[in-house]
Amino acid sequence: MSTPRAAGKVYAHVGQPFTPTPYDLVVVGAGRMGSLLAHFALWARPELRVLLLDQGGLPNEEGASILAPGLWTALDVPATWHTEAELTRALVLGELPPAEGGLSAAGPHDTPTRVRGLLELLSENGEGGQPIGEGVEEWAADLAPLADLAAFAACRLDRRALTYSVAALTTRATQSAIRQGADLMLNTRAVPTAQGVTLERLTVTNTHQIVVHETLPLSAAQVVIAAGAAGSQLAEQHLGTVTHHAQAYQQYPRLNVPSSDQSPVVRAQFAATTLTLRPFAGGYTVLTPIHHRAPHGYQPTGGRLSGVPVGLRRETIQDLLLGMEAMPALATEALEVGRSLSDMAGAWLALPAGGWPLWEALTGKHWLLLGGSKADLVGAGVARRAALALA
Ligand code: ADP
Repeated sequence: MSTPRAAGKVYAHVGQPFTPTPYDLVVVGAGRMGSLLAHFALWARPELRVLLLDQGGLPNEEGASILAPGLWTALDVPATWHTEAELTRALVLGELPPAEGGLSAAGPHDTPTRVRGLLELLSENGEGGQPIGEGVEEWAADLAPLADLAAFAACRLDRRALTYSVAALTTRATQSAIRQGADLMLNTRAVPTAQGVTLERLTVTNTHQIVVHETLPLSAAQVVIAAGAAGSQLAEQHLGTVTHHAQAYQQYPRLNVPSSDQSPVVRAQFAATTLTLRPFAGGYTVLTPIHHRAPHGYQPTGGRLSGVPVGLRRETIQDLLLGMEAMPALATEALEVGRSLSDMAGAWLALPAGGWPLWEALTGKHWLLLGGSKADLVGAGVARRAALALA
Protein backbone atom coordinates (compact mmCIF):
# COMPACT_ATOMS: atom_id res chain seq x y z
CA MET A 1 0.00 0.00 0.00
CA SER A 2 1.25 3.49 -0.76
CA THR A 3 1.75 5.78 2.21
CA PRO A 4 -0.95 8.43 2.55
CA ARG A 5 -0.06 11.85 1.29
CA ALA A 6 0.98 14.54 3.79
CA ALA A 7 -1.60 17.18 4.64
CA GLY A 8 -1.46 20.47 2.77
CA LYS A 9 -0.17 23.77 4.15
CA VAL A 10 -2.28 26.65 5.38
CA TYR A 11 -1.18 30.21 4.54
CA ALA A 12 -3.44 32.33 6.72
CA HIS A 13 -1.59 35.67 6.61
CA VAL A 14 1.18 37.49 4.80
CA GLY A 15 3.71 36.70 7.54
CA GLN A 16 3.86 33.17 6.13
CA PRO A 17 6.08 33.25 3.02
CA PHE A 18 4.59 31.61 -0.07
CA THR A 19 6.75 30.64 -3.03
CA PRO A 20 4.59 30.12 -6.11
CA THR A 21 5.09 26.76 -7.80
CA PRO A 22 2.71 25.42 -10.46
CA TYR A 23 -0.48 23.72 -9.29
CA ASP A 24 -2.65 21.24 -11.13
CA LEU A 25 -5.77 22.94 -9.82
CA VAL A 26 -6.40 26.35 -8.26
CA VAL A 27 -9.84 26.91 -6.70
CA VAL A 28 -10.80 30.57 -6.32
CA GLY A 29 -13.22 30.94 -3.41
CA ALA A 30 -13.46 28.76 -0.29
CA GLY A 31 -17.21 29.02 0.17
CA ARG A 32 -19.24 25.87 0.09
CA MET A 33 -18.88 25.30 -3.67
CA GLY A 34 -15.11 25.80 -3.84
CA SER A 35 -14.41 23.79 -0.69
CA LEU A 36 -16.56 20.90 -1.84
CA LEU A 37 -14.94 20.99 -5.25
CA ALA A 38 -11.43 20.84 -3.73
CA HIS A 39 -12.52 17.95 -1.50
CA PHE A 40 -14.08 15.97 -4.37
CA ALA A 41 -11.19 16.71 -6.78
CA LEU A 42 -8.73 15.09 -4.36
CA TRP A 43 -11.11 12.23 -3.69
CA ALA A 44 -11.22 11.57 -7.44
CA ARG A 45 -7.48 12.17 -8.04
CA PRO A 46 -5.47 11.97 -4.80
CA GLU A 47 -2.19 12.95 -6.49
CA LEU A 48 -3.43 16.39 -7.67
CA ARG A 49 -1.61 19.49 -6.45
CA VAL A 50 -4.49 21.71 -5.34
CA LEU A 51 -4.56 25.27 -4.00
CA LEU A 52 -7.80 26.51 -2.44
CA LEU A 53 -7.88 30.22 -1.69
CA ASP A 54 -10.18 32.94 -0.41
CA GLN A 55 -9.97 36.69 -0.17
CA GLY A 56 -11.37 36.49 3.36
CA GLY A 57 -11.10 34.12 6.29
CA LEU A 58 -12.77 30.76 6.69
CA PRO A 59 -15.64 30.98 6.48
CA ASN A 60 -15.69 34.40 4.89
CA GLU A 61 -18.19 36.51 6.79
CA GLU A 62 -19.19 38.28 3.58
CA GLY A 63 -19.80 35.09 1.59
CA ALA A 64 -23.17 33.51 0.93
CA SER A 65 -22.29 30.18 2.54
CA ILE A 66 -22.14 31.45 6.11
CA LEU A 67 -25.76 32.72 5.97
CA ALA A 68 -27.25 30.07 3.72
CA PRO A 69 -30.35 28.53 5.32
CA GLY A 70 -29.15 24.94 4.88
CA LEU A 71 -32.59 23.64 3.98
CA TRP A 72 -33.10 20.45 2.03
CA THR A 73 -36.53 19.26 0.88
CA ALA A 74 -37.56 16.77 -1.79
CA LEU A 75 -40.70 18.78 -2.61
CA ASP A 76 -40.45 20.06 -6.18
CA VAL A 77 -37.13 18.42 -7.07
CA PRO A 78 -37.45 17.57 -10.77
CA ALA A 79 -36.43 14.04 -11.78
CA THR A 80 -33.35 15.40 -13.58
CA TRP A 81 -31.98 16.70 -10.24
CA HIS A 82 -32.85 13.68 -8.14
CA THR A 83 -29.32 12.19 -8.11
CA GLU A 84 -27.58 15.43 -7.08
CA ALA A 85 -30.23 16.13 -4.44
CA GLU A 86 -29.94 12.67 -2.86
CA LEU A 87 -26.14 12.82 -2.93
CA THR A 88 -26.22 16.19 -1.16
CA ARG A 89 -28.64 14.85 1.45
CA ALA A 90 -26.50 11.75 2.10
CA LEU A 91 -23.37 13.90 2.42
CA VAL A 92 -24.84 16.31 4.96
CA LEU A 93 -26.29 13.39 6.95
CA GLY A 94 -22.85 11.73 7.04
CA GLU A 95 -24.34 8.75 5.15
CA LEU A 96 -22.23 9.02 1.98
CA PRO A 97 -19.45 6.39 2.19
CA PRO A 98 -15.89 7.79 2.02
CA ALA A 99 -15.34 5.67 -1.10
CA GLU A 100 -18.03 7.79 -2.81
CA GLY A 101 -16.61 11.08 -1.57
CA GLY A 102 -18.28 11.22 1.84
CA LEU A 103 -16.83 13.44 4.55
CA SER A 104 -15.69 12.05 7.88
CA ALA A 105 -18.19 12.24 10.73
CA ALA A 106 -19.16 15.64 12.09
CA GLY A 107 -17.41 16.59 15.32
CA PRO A 108 -19.20 16.90 18.68
CA HIS A 109 -19.18 20.70 18.39
CA ASP A 110 -20.48 20.88 14.82
CA THR A 111 -24.01 22.16 14.36
CA PRO A 112 -25.97 18.96 13.77
CA THR A 113 -27.96 18.09 10.69
CA ARG A 114 -31.59 17.51 11.71
CA VAL A 115 -34.28 15.60 9.88
CA ARG A 116 -37.17 17.84 10.96
CA GLY A 117 -39.70 17.43 8.21
CA LEU A 118 -41.37 20.23 6.31
CA LEU A 119 -45.00 21.28 6.23
CA GLU A 120 -46.06 23.30 3.24
CA LEU A 121 -49.33 25.21 3.55
CA LEU A 122 -51.16 25.92 0.30
CA SER A 123 -53.59 28.74 -0.33
CA GLU A 124 -55.27 26.62 -3.03
CA ASN A 125 -55.61 22.86 -3.21
CA GLY A 126 -53.49 21.70 -6.12
CA GLU A 127 -51.57 18.62 -7.10
CA GLY A 128 -50.34 16.51 -4.20
CA GLY A 129 -52.22 18.55 -1.61
CA GLN A 130 -53.87 16.87 1.37
CA PRO A 131 -56.22 18.10 4.08
CA ILE A 132 -54.52 20.14 6.80
CA GLY A 133 -54.24 18.65 10.24
CA GLU A 134 -53.84 14.95 9.57
CA GLY A 135 -50.48 13.52 10.50
CA VAL A 136 -49.11 16.77 11.89
CA GLU A 137 -50.57 16.54 15.41
CA GLU A 138 -47.09 16.46 16.94
CA TRP A 139 -46.38 19.88 15.41
CA ALA A 140 -49.57 21.55 16.66
CA ALA A 141 -47.75 23.51 19.38
CA ASP A 142 -45.12 24.74 16.92
CA LEU A 143 -47.70 25.74 14.32
CA ALA A 144 -50.14 27.57 16.61
CA PRO A 145 -48.10 30.79 16.98
CA LEU A 146 -46.85 30.71 13.38
CA ALA A 147 -49.79 30.28 11.06
CA ASP A 148 -53.56 30.55 10.95
CA LEU A 149 -54.22 27.09 9.52
CA ALA A 150 -57.81 28.06 8.64
CA ALA A 151 -56.39 30.51 6.08
CA PHE A 152 -54.99 27.65 3.98
CA ALA A 153 -56.79 25.16 1.75
CA ALA A 154 -54.43 22.19 1.83
CA CYS A 155 -50.92 21.09 2.70
CA ARG A 156 -48.03 18.95 1.55
CA LEU A 157 -45.64 17.10 3.83
CA ASP A 158 -42.02 16.13 3.41
CA ARG A 159 -40.93 13.96 6.32
CA ARG A 160 -37.38 13.65 4.96
CA ALA A 161 -36.74 17.39 4.86
CA LEU A 162 -33.73 18.43 6.89
CA THR A 163 -31.80 21.44 8.06
CA TYR A 164 -28.03 21.70 8.30
CA SER A 165 -25.27 24.24 8.78
CA VAL A 166 -23.73 25.21 5.46
CA ALA A 167 -20.88 26.96 7.30
CA ALA A 168 -20.06 23.73 9.16
CA LEU A 169 -20.23 21.75 5.92
CA THR A 170 -17.89 24.26 4.25
CA THR A 171 -15.38 23.98 7.09
CA ARG A 172 -15.47 20.19 7.03
CA ALA A 173 -15.00 20.10 3.26
CA THR A 174 -12.03 22.48 3.54
CA GLN A 175 -10.47 20.43 6.33
CA SER A 176 -10.94 17.29 4.29
CA ALA A 177 -9.27 18.90 1.25
CA ILE A 178 -6.29 19.94 3.42
CA ARG A 179 -6.02 16.45 4.93
CA GLN A 180 -5.94 15.04 1.40
CA GLY A 181 -3.06 17.37 0.49
CA ALA A 182 -4.60 20.67 -0.68
CA ASP A 183 -2.89 23.92 0.32
CA LEU A 184 -5.18 26.66 1.65
CA MET A 185 -4.48 30.38 1.32
CA LEU A 186 -6.63 32.89 3.16
CA ASN A 187 -6.78 36.67 2.81
CA THR A 188 -5.72 36.23 -0.78
CA ARG A 189 -7.59 37.60 -3.78
CA ALA A 190 -7.14 35.89 -7.12
CA VAL A 191 -7.38 37.50 -10.53
CA PRO A 192 -7.65 35.00 -13.40
CA THR A 193 -4.90 35.25 -16.06
CA ALA A 194 -4.00 33.30 -19.19
CA GLN A 195 -1.42 31.26 -17.21
CA GLY A 196 -3.63 30.65 -14.19
CA VAL A 197 -4.15 33.41 -11.64
CA THR A 198 -2.43 36.38 -10.07
CA LEU A 199 -2.49 36.22 -6.29
CA GLU A 200 -2.92 39.38 -4.24
CA ARG A 201 -2.08 38.70 -0.61
CA LEU A 202 -4.11 41.09 1.50
CA THR A 203 -3.37 42.61 4.85
CA VAL A 204 -5.06 45.13 7.13
CA THR A 205 -3.28 48.35 8.07
CA ASN A 206 -3.51 49.85 11.55
CA THR A 207 -6.14 52.24 10.15
CA HIS A 208 -8.27 49.22 9.11
CA GLN A 209 -7.67 49.54 5.40
CA ILE A 210 -7.27 46.39 3.34
CA VAL A 211 -4.17 46.68 1.17
CA VAL A 212 -2.31 44.39 -1.20
CA HIS A 213 0.89 43.26 0.52
CA GLU A 214 2.34 41.34 -2.42
CA THR A 215 1.32 40.25 -5.91
CA LEU A 216 2.39 36.84 -7.15
CA PRO A 217 1.79 35.22 -10.54
CA LEU A 218 0.85 31.55 -10.28
CA SER A 219 0.52 29.06 -13.08
CA ALA A 220 -2.07 26.34 -12.95
CA ALA A 221 -3.22 23.63 -15.32
CA GLN A 222 -6.85 24.27 -14.32
CA VAL A 223 -8.58 27.07 -12.44
CA VAL A 224 -12.06 26.82 -11.00
CA ILE A 225 -13.72 30.13 -10.20
CA ALA A 226 -16.02 29.33 -7.28
CA ALA A 227 -16.30 32.96 -6.18
CA GLY A 228 -20.05 33.01 -5.49
CA ALA A 229 -21.81 36.17 -6.67
CA ALA A 230 -18.47 37.61 -7.89
CA GLY A 231 -17.77 34.65 -10.18
CA SER A 232 -19.32 35.81 -13.43
CA GLN A 233 -17.79 39.30 -13.08
CA LEU A 234 -14.32 37.77 -12.62
CA ALA A 235 -14.87 35.77 -15.80
CA GLU A 236 -16.10 38.77 -17.77
CA GLN A 237 -13.54 41.29 -16.58
CA HIS A 238 -10.41 39.18 -16.71
CA LEU A 239 -11.07 36.43 -19.23
CA GLY A 240 -13.27 38.36 -21.62
CA THR A 241 -15.94 35.64 -21.67
CA VAL A 242 -19.60 36.60 -21.63
CA THR A 243 -21.84 34.80 -19.17
CA HIS A 244 -25.60 35.00 -18.68
CA HIS A 245 -25.57 34.72 -14.91
CA ALA A 246 -26.54 37.38 -12.42
CA GLN A 247 -26.54 38.28 -8.74
CA ALA A 248 -29.15 39.05 -6.12
CA TYR A 249 -28.97 40.32 -2.56
CA GLN A 250 -30.87 38.29 0.00
CA GLN A 251 -31.71 39.17 3.58
CA TYR A 252 -32.53 36.69 6.31
CA PRO A 253 -34.79 38.33 8.90
CA ARG A 254 -35.32 36.54 12.19
CA LEU A 255 -38.70 35.75 13.71
CA ASN A 256 -38.53 35.42 17.49
CA VAL A 257 -41.18 32.74 17.91
CA PRO A 258 -39.77 29.82 19.94
CA SER A 259 -38.55 26.77 18.02
CA SER A 260 -36.96 23.55 19.24
CA ASP A 261 -34.80 20.80 17.74
CA GLN A 262 -38.03 19.04 16.74
CA SER A 263 -39.82 22.00 15.15
CA PRO A 264 -40.61 21.51 11.46
CA VAL A 265 -39.76 23.82 8.61
CA VAL A 266 -42.98 25.66 7.71
CA ARG A 267 -43.52 26.93 4.20
CA ALA A 268 -46.56 28.91 3.13
CA GLN A 269 -47.55 29.29 -0.52
CA PHE A 270 -49.64 32.34 -1.25
CA ALA A 271 -50.95 33.48 -4.61
CA ALA A 272 -48.16 36.03 -5.03
CA THR A 273 -45.32 34.74 -2.87
CA THR A 274 -43.88 31.92 -0.79
CA LEU A 275 -42.49 32.36 2.72
CA THR A 276 -40.44 29.73 4.49
CA LEU A 277 -39.80 29.65 8.23
CA ARG A 278 -36.66 27.71 9.03
CA PRO A 279 -36.08 26.85 12.71
CA PHE A 280 -32.79 28.41 13.78
CA ALA A 281 -31.19 28.97 17.19
CA GLY A 282 -34.42 28.90 19.18
CA GLY A 283 -36.41 31.04 16.71
CA TYR A 284 -36.96 31.07 12.96
CA THR A 285 -35.21 32.51 9.93
CA VAL A 286 -37.69 33.91 7.40
CA LEU A 287 -36.84 33.08 3.81
CA THR A 288 -38.38 35.14 1.03
CA PRO A 289 -38.17 34.33 -2.67
CA ILE A 290 -35.69 36.00 -5.00
CA HIS A 291 -37.79 37.79 -7.61
CA HIS A 292 -35.22 39.63 -9.72
CA ARG A 293 -31.60 39.84 -10.63
CA ALA A 294 -30.00 42.95 -9.12
CA PRO A 295 -29.44 45.62 -11.79
CA HIS A 296 -25.81 46.44 -12.52
CA GLY A 297 -24.34 48.65 -9.78
CA TYR A 298 -27.27 48.06 -7.40
CA GLN A 299 -26.50 48.94 -3.77
CA PRO A 300 -28.86 47.38 -1.21
CA THR A 301 -30.58 49.92 1.04
CA GLY A 302 -33.02 49.56 3.92
CA GLY A 303 -36.72 50.29 3.44
CA ARG A 304 -39.51 51.90 5.44
CA LEU A 305 -42.33 50.39 7.47
CA SER A 306 -45.14 52.88 8.20
CA GLY A 307 -42.67 55.65 7.45
CA VAL A 308 -40.01 54.38 9.87
CA PRO A 309 -36.62 53.48 8.36
CA VAL A 310 -35.79 49.79 8.84
CA GLY A 311 -32.98 47.50 7.83
CA LEU A 312 -35.14 45.26 5.68
CA ARG A 313 -35.19 46.18 2.02
CA ARG A 314 -38.46 47.23 0.43
CA GLU A 315 -38.46 44.07 -1.74
CA THR A 316 -38.32 41.85 1.33
CA ILE A 317 -40.95 43.84 3.25
CA GLN A 318 -43.31 43.50 0.29
CA ASP A 319 -43.22 39.70 0.51
CA LEU A 320 -43.71 39.77 4.27
CA LEU A 321 -46.75 42.05 3.92
CA LEU A 322 -48.33 39.49 1.60
CA GLY A 323 -48.00 36.82 4.26
CA MET A 324 -48.97 38.74 7.40
CA GLU A 325 -52.67 37.92 7.37
CA ALA A 326 -52.18 34.17 7.35
CA MET A 327 -48.99 34.29 9.45
CA PRO A 328 -49.89 36.90 12.07
CA ALA A 329 -46.58 36.61 13.95
CA LEU A 330 -44.95 38.44 11.02
CA ALA A 331 -46.98 41.54 11.91
CA THR A 332 -45.71 41.64 15.51
CA GLU A 333 -42.51 42.69 17.24
CA ALA A 334 -41.38 39.07 16.98
CA LEU A 335 -40.13 39.98 13.50
CA GLU A 336 -36.73 41.65 13.60
CA VAL A 337 -36.62 44.38 10.98
CA GLY A 338 -33.40 46.15 11.99
CA ARG A 339 -32.72 49.87 12.07
CA SER A 340 -30.40 49.94 9.12
CA LEU A 341 -29.18 47.60 6.45
CA SER A 342 -26.04 46.82 8.42
CA ASP A 343 -28.23 45.47 11.25
CA MET A 344 -29.76 42.83 9.04
CA ALA A 345 -28.00 39.63 8.01
CA GLY A 346 -27.77 39.55 4.22
CA ALA A 347 -25.49 38.34 1.44
CA TRP A 348 -24.96 38.45 -2.28
CA LEU A 349 -25.94 35.24 -4.04
CA ALA A 350 -25.05 34.05 -7.51
CA LEU A 351 -28.10 33.63 -9.76
CA PRO A 352 -27.01 31.01 -12.25
CA ALA A 353 -28.93 31.16 -15.55
CA GLY A 354 -31.75 28.64 -15.20
CA GLY A 355 -31.69 28.89 -11.40
CA TRP A 356 -29.76 25.67 -10.66
CA PRO A 357 -26.11 25.36 -9.58
CA LEU A 358 -23.84 24.75 -12.54
CA TRP A 359 -20.30 24.59 -13.81
CA GLU A 360 -19.13 25.55 -17.26
CA ALA A 361 -15.88 25.91 -19.17
CA LEU A 362 -14.75 29.52 -19.69
CA THR A 363 -11.41 28.95 -21.47
CA GLY A 364 -9.23 25.91 -22.08
CA LYS A 365 -8.19 26.05 -18.42
CA HIS A 366 -10.73 28.15 -16.52
CA TRP A 367 -14.07 26.91 -15.22
CA LEU A 368 -16.94 28.69 -13.52
CA LEU A 369 -18.71 26.94 -10.63
CA LEU A 370 -21.88 28.64 -9.38
CA GLY A 371 -24.06 27.69 -6.42
CA GLY A 372 -26.81 30.17 -5.60
CA SER A 373 -30.06 29.60 -3.77
CA LYS A 374 -30.49 25.95 -4.78
CA ALA A 375 -27.01 24.96 -3.59
CA ASP A 376 -28.52 23.79 -0.27
CA LEU A 377 -30.40 21.18 -2.25
CA VAL A 378 -27.95 19.98 -4.91
CA GLY A 379 -24.68 21.90 -4.39
CA ALA A 380 -22.60 18.93 -3.26
CA GLY A 381 -23.86 16.82 -6.15
CA VAL A 382 -22.90 19.51 -8.66
CA ALA A 383 -19.47 20.03 -7.06
CA ARG A 384 -18.82 16.30 -7.26
CA ARG A 385 -19.88 16.14 -10.90
CA ALA A 386 -17.60 19.10 -11.70
CA ALA A 387 -14.67 17.47 -9.87
CA LEU A 388 -15.13 14.25 -11.83
CA ALA A 389 -15.26 16.18 -15.11
CA LEU A 390 -12.00 17.99 -14.24
CA ALA A 391 -10.28 14.75 -13.30
P1 ADP B 1 -20.80 29.66 -2.85
O1 ADP B 1 -22.08 29.24 -2.16
O2 ADP B 1 -20.95 29.69 -4.33
O3 ADP B 1 -19.63 28.89 -2.40
P2 ADP B 1 -19.90 32.01 -1.31
O4 ADP B 1 -20.28 33.44 -1.49
O5 ADP B 1 -20.17 31.40 0.01
O6 ADP B 1 -20.61 31.22 -2.50
O7 ADP B 1 -18.38 31.78 -1.57
C1 ADP B 1 -17.63 32.48 -2.50
C2 ADP B 1 -16.28 32.81 -1.89
O8 ADP B 1 -15.43 33.33 -2.89
C3 ADP B 1 -16.37 33.85 -0.79
O9 ADP B 1 -15.86 33.31 0.41
C4 ADP B 1 -15.52 35.01 -1.32
O10 ADP B 1 -14.74 35.60 -0.29
C5 ADP B 1 -14.63 34.32 -2.31
N1 ADP B 1 -14.12 35.18 -3.40
C6 ADP B 1 -14.86 35.97 -4.23
N2 ADP B 1 -14.06 36.60 -5.13
C7 ADP B 1 -12.80 36.18 -4.86
C8 ADP B 1 -11.51 36.46 -5.45
N3 ADP B 1 -11.38 37.27 -6.51
N4 ADP B 1 -10.43 35.87 -4.90
C9 ADP B 1 -10.55 35.05 -3.82
N5 ADP B 1 -11.72 34.74 -3.25
C10 ADP B 1 -12.83 35.30 -3.76
